[in-house]
Amino acid sequence: MSGIGIASQVVPLLLIGGGFVLTGAATYGLPNPQENHLARLHPKAQGPFREFIRRVESETGWRVQITSGYRTRTEQEHLIRGGRHYAVRNSAHLFGFALDINLLKDGKRITSRSSNAAWEATGAVAIAKSLGMRWGGDFQRKSRVHFDLFWSPALARKWIAMAEAQFGPNWGDRGNQLVIR
Ligand SMILES: [Zn+2]
Repeated sequence: MSGIGIASQVVPLLLIGGGFVLTGAATYGLPNPQENHLARLHPKAQGPFREFIRRVESETGWRVQITSGYRTRTEQEHLIRGGRHYAVRNSAHLFGFALDINLLKDGKRITSRSSNAAWEATGAVAIAKSLGMRWGGDFQRKSRVHFDLFWSPALARKWIAMAEAQFGPNWGDRGNQLVIR
């Protein structure tokens, strides 16, 4: 077994909240643990993040290792109680619209402890922004491993209300199934 999963997906026109539009086809296979992270993202986010990873790996030579993706509300609150400064209640992770990653090349590893400058020097930050993503290195509470799509506090409030309407008070384990029109 090669351990490589190949998936093909055409990314539909995506227009959410902030007015970003993403188009394009993304076909790029990743090792299975990575595919599992991608498969649990929101369906609308899987294509853009796959394209992000494909471009980082092909244009910069850094290999992407996903460390976290979709998180249920229970998992997120566990992180908050554990005092993780980066874990916020209205996180894009709750809807499968965020990935945390490390970057690896030539025995070097770019992590949460690496500086903003080290992250920017890889080229990954610029690629993310060209795809309309936000980078946690720009946040007041920095989380340099964090990349998300279209997120804002106002959108978080809107999607939490939508999730409650669609799934009831226990929406927290179904955020990645939110129906977004
Ligand atoms: Zn994150």
